[in-house]
Amino acid sequence: MIDELREQMLAEQAQRLARLELRNRIHTIGLLIWAALLLGWLVYCFVKLMAMANRTAVMQAGTILFTCVACGAAFDLPAEYLVKHPFIPKKSVSVGAAGGIGLQGTVRMSRRLRCPVCGKKAWCRQDMRETGKIGVNSFAEAARRIIPRFFLVEAVIFAAGGVFFVLLNAVLN
Ligand SMILES: [Zn+2]
Repeated sequence: MIDELREQMLAEQAQRLARLELRNRIHTIGLLIWAALLLGWLVYCFVKLMAMANRTAVMQAGTILFTCVACGAAFDLPAEYLVKHPFIPKKSVSVGAAGGIGLQGTVRMSRRLRCPVCGKKAWCRQDMRETGKIGVNSFAEAARRIIPRFFLVEAVIFAAGGVFFVLLNAVLN
């Protein structure tokens, strides 16, 4: 009689241990998937933001002033042209540690362009003030479109994960 009871208790204990082990395994895998989703969405939004910043209305409407060093003439180029031709040779002067990301800290930049006035391929000095303004405004426009969606989806993933783990603990305990 007592032996039977003991066996039953041991069996129950073994079952409970197996349940806990299963729960831990699901918990670990769930955490990994959760983290991957949260991080994945962040990376996706970041890449999308960077790509979108080059295709905004600001970028499409913007023009940048260049000055040809061969003849001294000034001419405008659409900002979009520079985005579409990222491999035009360029040389730039930056201010030391203030370097930062992208154009920040760049005080002077010239690009190898065909001057529309003298027709020569020459180094043309780029107007950095206009370049910076277009860059900042374009980035802001893209951010306004991306960031609300980023937080919304991130919150949904976060909440879904929370619900999942609460349910997991309730079902397997
Ligand atoms: Zn020229």
